[in-house]
Amino acid sequence: MKIKVVSRVLEANERIAEENRKLLKDKGVFVLNLMSAPGAGKTSLLIKTIELLKSRVAIGVIEGDITGTEDAERIGALRVPVVQINTGGACHLDANMINTVLQELPLDQIRLLFIENVGNLVCPAEFNVGEDMKVMILSVTEGEDKPLKYPLMFQESQVLLINKIDLLPYLDIDIERLVKNSLKVNPQLKIFTVSCKSGEGLSQWTDFLLSKINPV
Ligand code: MG
Ligand code: ZN
Repeated sequence: MKIKVVSRVLEANERIAEENRKLLKDKGVFVLNLMSAPGAGKTSLLIKTIELLKSRVAIGVIEGDITGTEDAERIGALRVPVVQINTGGACHLDANMINTVLQELPLDQIRLLFIENVGNLVCPAEFNVGEDMKVMILSVTEGEDKPLKYPLMFQESQVLLINKIDLLPYLDIDIERLVKNSLKVNPQLKIFTVSCKSGEGLSQWTDFLLSKINPV
């Protein structure tokens, strides 16, 4: 019985995700769903990405957090349109939450929309929201066994950003093993190693993004 209920929730979510996808495609918006554990650096990475791209492409942001507006305020300071979703306890964003706030963004003027999911390595991967691409951010401090312990998020993502590589000299992590483990659960995964602090690897990531969209 319980399994039936869960599958119905996911089916309903999938229908709304499809609706979002169609609306955003009609508007010519390329959509990324950013997912990670809390503290992996989603917001910092988003800020760096916006700083590098905003003169070349019109950007919008949906910020998902359980509570609070701190991240949305940091993004808003960059003068890009941003909407905050507070899930009020829910540990992931779903398609309906996105559907509810889409009309609050000037979609006709946006070409690239970032959705920052709630920090959580489990259920965000189960809920499509209408994105073109799922991007996972993993901090090097999280260790090389994360892909084996949380395979779904690695399997669902098209891109993995290994963040905070400026910390590598201070850590025991074997980054080659991390990459190997990631590709073991998802051989298609496109992997970038980046540091928001030193800026290393960020231009490879933003060049990749630009190649995926039509700049205005
Ligand atoms: Mg954040
Ligand atoms: Zn959840």
